[in-house]
Amino acid sequence: MSDTIFGKIAAGEITADIVYEDADVVAFRDLNPQAPVHILVIPRQPLPSLEQVDDQDAPLLGKLLVAAAKVARQEGIAKAGYRTVINCNAAGGQTVLHLHLHVLGGRPLQWPPG
Ligand code: 5GP
Repeated sequence: MSDTIFGKIAAGEITADIVYEDADVVAFRDLNPQAPVHILVIPRQPLPSLEQVDDQDAPLLGKLLVAAAKVARQEGIAKAGYRTVINCNAAGGQTVLHLHLHVLGGRPLQWPPG
């Protein structure tokens, strides 16, 4: 498991408000939510960022998206609409180096995000 805070959450070493989990993926509420619903979906496997992803990771990346869709339906934001975001490395705004997908919803979201 990775040494990041998200690796520790996936390992159950640090608590989080987990809303979904399966063999490959864990989803939990963001500590500093940017929308009424703000959930982070992470792989249990500690990939640092999209920078390291390659063909062999395609099934896992698909699972992240499917989990995001399940979480959005579970949270009741799917019909109105929501946003998924993956920040990659420093210029992309990534602060935790364990790949994660943000699910944001529950309010109108602007585009471009800025
Ligand atoms: P990033 O900027 O890397 O794309 O997103 C990291 C996200 O993780 C931020 O939205 C931040 O609020 C959230 N975060 C950082 N530390 C923790 C934590 O310990 N627990 C939870 N639930 N969220 C965290």
